[in-house]
Amino acid sequence: MSTILVLLGPPGAGKGTQAVVLAKKFGWTHVSTGDMLREAVAKKTDLGMEAKKYMDRGDLVPDSIVTNIVVDRIMRDSSSKGFILDGYPRTETQALSLEAALSRSGMLINVVIYFETTPEISISRLSGRRVCKKCGANYHIKNIPPKKDGICDKCGGELFQREDDKESTVRNRLKVYEDQTEKLLSYYEKKGILRTVSGDLDVESAFRDLRNLFKKESVI
Ligand code: ADP
Ligand code: ZN
Repeated sequence: MSTILVLLGPPGAGKGTQAVVLAKKFGWTHVSTGDMLREAVAKKTDLGMEAKKYMDRGDLVPDSIVTNIVVDRIMRDSSSKGFILDGYPRTETQALSLEAALSRSGMLINVVIYFETTPEISISRLSGRRVCKKCGANYHIKNIPPKKDGICDKCGGELFQREDDKESTVRNRLKVYEDQTEKLLSYYEKKGILRTVSGDLDVESAFRDLRNLFKKESVI
């Protein structure tokens, strides 16, 4: 049966960065709603055009849209040994829809990992983030700089700043997180599956903590 891990925490806590590392290291499927939505926007599909309106403001895309794409993704790859859900669920409705969809296939969330950090760190991470136009790899001008300024180490693509990483939008994303997503912490706490890691660490230290946690939880 597939292992299901949920990464929870404010934007900029390092979920996406760790999700990429974990997927590669343990052979899990990385399911990032942000990446899937941005892909739909880039392809200018109907869904993408609809989602873009919300994303540019830093608001949440309607629950039904994101739930569909996540459930499709999991079911399409249902033989995968594990899934890392990065950026989903973000509302109570999404959490309930996810549970219902998983239980229909006899699946369960194993662990929800909360990346705890402060708004100051979130803001500095997001405002310094740069993304590759070609392959989507993430960098940070100070913390994870590319070898050559403005150029992706992996594919040579051009790096740019995401529209929603500009300061005013970042503030709205943090507010949306506090208003809608934070309550999921107590939701999963009550279910006894919430574990907390520090979102303030560098990439290697955060990975080390996660690996230790997974050993303790017997998911690796
Ligand atoms: P971050 O986690 O850094 O905010 P993401 O790349 O995960 O960035 O998400 C970017 C945007 O995509 C969000 O601001 C939101 O508009 C949309 N989005 C991503 N995941 C969800 C979700 N589960 N529900 C609603 N909207 C989402
Ligand atoms: Zn690249």
